[in-house]
Amino acid sequence: MPRLGVLTSGGDAPGMNAAVRAVVRTALNRDAEIYTIHEGYQGLLDGGDLIRLARWGDVSSVLELGGTALGTARCKAFRERDGRRQAAKNLLAHGIDRLVVIGGDGSLTGAMRLSEEWQELGAELVAAGVIAAEVAARHPALKVAGLVGSIDNDIAGMDMTIGADTALHRITEAMDALSSTARSHRRTFVVEVMGRKCGYLALMAGIAGGADYVFLPEDPPPAGGWEQHMLQELLDGRDEGRRNPVIVLAEGACDSDGNPITADQVKQVVERGFGGEVRVTVLGHVQRGGAPSAFDRNLGTILGHAAAQALIDDTVGDAPVVIGTRGNRVVHVPLAECLAQNDAVVEAIRAHDYPRAMALRGHGFKEGHAILRTMLQARPSASEPKPRRLRLAVLNAGAPAPGMNAAVRAAVRIGLDKGHEMLGVDNGFQGLIEGHVRPLGWMDVSGWVSRGGSELGARRTKLVGKELYAIARTLENERIDGLLVVGGWTAYVGAHAIYHERGNYPACDIPIVCLPASIDNNLPGSELSIGADTALNSIVWALDRIRLSASAQHRCFVVEVMGRRCGYLAMMSALASGAERAYLHERGVTVGDLLGDVEALKRGFLAGRRLGLVIRNEMANDVYDARFMGALYEEESGDLFDVRVAILGHLQQGGAPTPFDRIHATRLAGECIDHLIAEAGGSEPGTSSFVGLDGGKTRFWDLQDFPRMVDLGNERPRAQWWLALQGVADALGRADRGTDG
Ligand code: ADP
Repeated sequence: MPRLGVLTSGGDAPGMNAAVRAVVRTALNRDAEIYTIHEGYQGLLDGGDLIRLARWGDVSSVLELGGTALGTARCKAFRERDGRRQAAKNLLAHGIDRLVVIGGDGSLTGAMRLSEEWQELGAELVAAGVIAAEVAARHPALKVAGLVGSIDNDIAGMDMTIGADTALHRITEAMDALSSTARSHRRTFVVEVMGRKCGYLALMAGIAGGADYVFLPEDPPPAGGWEQHMLQELLDGRDEGRRNPVIVLAEGACDSDGNPITADQVKQVVERGFGGEVRVTVLGHVQRGGAPSAFDRNLGTILGHAAAQALIDDTVGDAPVVIGTRGNRVVHVPLAECLAQNDAVVEAIRAHDYPRAMALRGHGFKEGHAILRTMLQARPSASEPKPRRLRLAVLNAGAPAPGMNAAVRAAVRIGLDKGHEMLGVDNGFQGLIEGHVRPLGWMDVSGWVSRGGSELGARRTKLVGKELYAIARTLENERIDGLLVVGGWTAYVGAHAIYHERGNYPACDIPIVCLPASIDNNLPGSELSIGADTALNSIVWALDRIRLSASAQHRCFVVEVMGRRCGYLAMMSALASGAERAYLHERGVTVGDLLGDVEALKRGFLAGRRLGLVIRNEMANDVYDARFMGALYEEESGDLFDVRVAILGHLQQGGAPTPFDRIHATRLAGECIDHLIAEAGGSEPGTSSFVGLDGGKTRFWDLQDFPRMVDLGNERPRAQWWLALQGVADALGRADRGTDG
């Protein structure tokens, strides 16, 4: 029977608990023995009660907790060989030779050392008579799976580290709050965010928080005085009507000669050269704290599950690996490779080779950086005259999705910056029918990045014959060369209908691009649509409260979430909240399933469980609706537990967009406008398409493929990547266990 250990080390990061929970429960499901090692490497050295055999209930109700329930510590002794020998002794004494280490690059470097020295340390322990030779021989290698828990997102080559998304939540919330008070007082705010060696948080906060100036370690202001550069940008902004600048500064910001730039220096320069009150806010440890975001819970869960599986299945070789995601897929990468790439970035910054530092950070960072540069400008750059100035229109269609405004803002600014005319259509396709089209300028979209709902107005309009005729008239009258449609299912159907009319109405023969924006995440060709992350976080926020409302009451909640016939929100919120079951339309629901689930829950309550949580997609089954399910659960539960039904409703659609939705919307919109310009400005008639994230890359699909790629009856894509997570959900949410969540 394999024996595993898991520890968290270094700086704590939200989502570490989810990872530990997943490691422990996956191991137990596989009949492996799993030890939790408390207080990081210090616990490994001290041994005793700090290395404990874990049970299912030891990791109950931890998903919603920030920090790490296992504890973490900085351990100087582990940096020395003597310390690592002591650690090896404790591991060998417990028969543990497979280790999951969750921490930052320091912690992973430590794990690497321990694994490299394992055999030698074993031999030394045998020679000293501390460990029997057979014991050392039984464990010839220490297999290590590392998970990166770090709010900085500073491991090159992976999508995200565990904790970075939550840190961005905290930063964006703070920036939204500061912007509102700044407006009331005509103040400038300087916001310092974490990131000594990595500008990820500052960069993304700059995009998501609508900053006016950003300092990054990888991209110092141009040589010749940062003071002058910053002031000029701020003064230009003021000329255009930007009143309350927000300046974001990474901890590790420096000038082009590598001299540090501090928040106080920035404050003084702004006070002298720009005037008004200036306030410095150092966000500090707030960025680490609070409940983990839905994304970090699920990332931790998925990676923890994968790490335990890999160690048990023995797919990790003798060299340690990092398990992370690339393009939304779980990958194993040699730890040595990750650490070397990290060192290379730090070295490039130290050598003032900023282009190289930027290149090593990877594609997403570079692309985000380019977009941020445009968004920060006070006005469109004076581009060289275009052979033809295109008139590009943007509209929102379908139900409002948080992040739509961020998409429109980015589209307008990037289009203007490239020298084209940008038009906004009010009220979705209805505006196109009625001719409500107006020019949008640079400052017209100011502040839109943080707003929920749809500033342009979005409506669900089904297009039929005479409406299509009216739309063709508007396209012709307004001389529209290309159309960006930001929206959900009805937006795609509408765009497809216009596209279909191009033979009848020549005005319809323009390139159209659809950008997926729907909380339901039910659009083809894209792993994630804009708005889904915000809705997911709203649901998880509500579920945390629902759970707490019932503490110690012996109660089961049946919670209904949105999604129409797409189970994405149900599945992902179940995973993030530790629900026992998610009912999806994709999987179907039978009365036999329901009875089986109540029986499992009854066994759980008999064994000591106090809370049950099941989540139902709103259209999982038309007959077995939420009320029916609640009644069935209540009737069958006897007096073991009572049942409450909660239908979350429209709180899921509202609210300020999450940082991810803002950033994702901004980047996708940028790519869509570039694409539209290329299609509309070429000599050939342009094609129409819909865009999406596919394996982490942006991809444009031909609009004519829309019907082929979807299940039209159920209004969802034929391929849905997240259904593969069912195995993880089943492994971790066992209703028959006697402990909660
Ligand atoms: P993080 O893991 O968040 O980067 P640290 O750099 O503080 O945090 O590392 C956490 C712990 O990992 C250290 O206290 C030490 O025990 C161990 N560690 C860090 N670097 C090394 C190293 N080069 N060799 C051995 N152990 C190390």
